[in-house]
Amino acid sequence: MSNNIKNLLDIQDENITFEEDCVTYGTHKGIAYQFIHGRLSYEPNSCLKCGAKKEGSSIYKNGSQKSRITLNMSGMRPTYLVLKKQRFFCKDCQSSFTAETPIVKKHCFISNNVKSEVAVKCSEAQSITNISRDCCVSHATVQRVINDAAKHFKPHYRALPEHLSFDEFKYAKGKMAFEYINAETGEILDTLEGRTNKMIRDHFITYYDLTHRKRVKTVTIDMNSAYVSVIKELFPNADIIIDRFHIIQLINRSMNKTRIKVMNTFNTSNNEDLKKYRRLKGYWKLILKNQSDLLSTEYRYYKLFGQRTERSIVQEMLAYDEELSTNYELYQTLLRAITRQEFNNLNMLLNEKRQAEINGYFRTSIKTLKKHLPYIMNSFKYPYNNGRIEGINNKIKVLNRVAYGYRNFQNYKKRILLHFYFKPASINQNKKLSTA
Ligand SMILES: [Zn+2]
Repeated sequence: MSNNIKNLLDIQDENITFEEDCVTYGTHKGIAYQFIHGRLSYEPNSCLKCGAKKEGSSIYKNGSQKSRITLNMSGMRPTYLVLKKQRFFCKDCQSSFTAETPIVKKHCFISNNVKSEVAVKCSEAQSITNISRDCCVSHATVQRVINDAAKHFKPHYRALPEHLSFDEFKYAKGKMAFEYINAETGEILDTLEGRTNKMIRDHFITYYDLTHRKRVKTVTIDMNSAYVSVIKELFPNADIIIDRFHIIQLINRSMNKTRIKVMNTFNTSNNEDLKKYRRLKGYWKLILKNQSDLLSTEYRYYKLFGQRTERSIVQEMLAYDEELSTNYELYQTLLRAITRQEFNNLNMLLNEKRQAEINGYFRTSIKTLKKHLPYIMNSFKYPYNNGRIEGINNKIKVLNRVAYGYRNFQNYKKRILLHFYFKPASINQNKKLSTA
């Protein structure tokens, strides 16, 4: 009996024993609880107060003390261990002490197992409210576990990788935070509460000396970011790269806005117009797709078109409107030059005299591309592909969900550290946490 329960509860301390009918049930504030009553006792070798060795009856058993410890959930009910701990009296120092167990820290009522479970859940994309509910501990306890665990993952300053990537993310309503990443490994190196040039400058100057900063070879940035000047100042030898993912994203947006603008002109009471409207609304992906990737021989059934090929669908939609077709041509030429990394071609395209039909969305994009041309060229020169940036962006999306409700950036930052560095599979780290 005793051993079964111990296995079930994952209690390895052999000084804890359970008797036949040790499980009772109760309710508190309408919630059903399960109590498991156990006993903790052993023969101490020495006094926990004065350290004197036990000789004969110099230390004797003297009463007991009950404490209620939160265990992991078992079944649907929150489970508590009501542990009757042996008290001892030491003749040497004339004082009492209580038996101890490694399943729980001194003066703590939440078992180490529960704490590890909370830490694992915190490293996943779960809200604090859910973790608190699932592990039967308070919000404050969850935050305490995060704080303790995050201590193990302090960012190590001084050295910098050769290839950095700067990014930003939203962490609370209207608030943006800054992060820098090792561009080769995708590892987040640190996060800052704001993204102003002053904050970034102060951070890098405080934590990294110029010798280290001079070794940085590239910094990859988002096209919309305003970091160019601060990067030149902090990393005098670094090439600035605008990732191709962001470049494509920019012209993608212009194409999409153009499609929506044209589409909305067909939102009338005329049936022919409405048909065009629905088609432009439904097949936006085909318009954004690289033209050379459109299937031209494979026939498939399309709800709004019937049996057709991708290419013929796009051709038909482009014929609806001149603004759409002219801007589409430009979009495709830009896309081709960027994906094939034809720098001279791109340069020529950006400096061409524009046709009147080229709309404001593309004019703005071209202006932005021209402004960043040297950094775009660097993106052709260095091997950083879209995949990594996309991967990081996905991670950040996860973080944004995790961060929901965080107003305190320091707490949020600890959560990020846990999220990226705490590997539940690593037994060592679990051990480290439970003995911390
Ligand atoms: Zn003593």
